[in-house]
Parts: sequence; structure tokens; C-alpha cells
Amino acid sequence: MDWGALLASTLTGLAPVLPPFAAIAAFLLVLRCPLPGRGPHRSQGQDPWRGFKYESRRIVMERAGHRCEGAVFLAWGRCNEPAVEADHIYPWSRGGPTIVSNGQALCRGHNRNKGAMNPPWWYVLTLERRRRSYFPEGADVRVTASMTAHEVRARTKAPPV
Ligand SMILES: [Zn+2]
Repeated sequence: MDWGALLASTLTGLAPVLPPFAAIAAFLLVLRCPLPGRGPHRSQGQDPWRGFKYESRRIVMERAGHRCEGAVFLAWGRCNEPAVEADHIYPWSRGGPTIVSNGQALCRGHNRNKGAMNPPWWYVLTLERRRRSYFPEGADVRVTASMTAHEVRARTKAPPV
């Protein structure tokens, strides 16, 4: 059998369908791209704080009105369930810090379904877009996931008794 000829004829047969495949592959790659400049800094290392507590947890839950911030209808609408978990947008296991700007309030279902992947650009942008409609006046809707002195203070302060 002439493998070279077989390969050539296979490639010729595939040629018409290659452009659509390449387009789909490119589309899938673009869908998984992160948003530049928003994730945790590489030099930051893993945050010793694993979970949200004290002020950081209170702020994350309260600015969401204790309602889930997860997406429904292809990231257009907002989930209607009550929030039960303060979740890391950039996963803790991938260097996402436990700070308010990296936190979101999620219901049980959204929290369970969220993988340990870094969120792609559209996840972050649609979350910020939804937030504009329910965040309190003056609250920052941006997901930044970078540690600042203000963020550190908020999470070490004990809640009011
Ligand atoms: Zn939800």
C-alpha cells in the first residue's frame, strides 16, 4: 500500500472542511482566554487564608444582597437563589487571594458547578455587567484579585458583635 498517496488523498479530501474546523478551534481558544491584568499576580504565591471570613465575607454577601451572583441564560441573567457561599472568582488553588475583589456570593448549585479553572474574559465581564444593576452605590464592580492594604485590613477585622 502506498501510504504517501493515501495520506495525500486523505488530506485532499479533508481540505474543504479544514477552514471551518480551524475557525471552531480558534473560537474555543478565544472563549477560554483570561482577561488581561485581572488575575492574581504570579509573584503573590498562595494566600494562607483559605476561606472568606469576618468583614471580607460580610461585604461579599451584603453587596450581593445575599442573593447568588451566578449567571443564567448564557450569562445574561442573574441567578435567583439565595447565596450561601462566598466564593473565589480566581480559584484559591490557582493563586487567587481570599479578598473582597476576588469574591462573589454564590448559591449551593452555582458553587458546586464552578470548576477550579481560572475564569475566562467573558465570565468576568458579564459578572461585572450584572453587578452594575445591584451593587450598592459607590461599590467597585471590578474583579481585580490583587492584594491591597485595604483588602488585608477588611479581612482581619473581626465582625461587630
Ligand atoms: Zn446560583
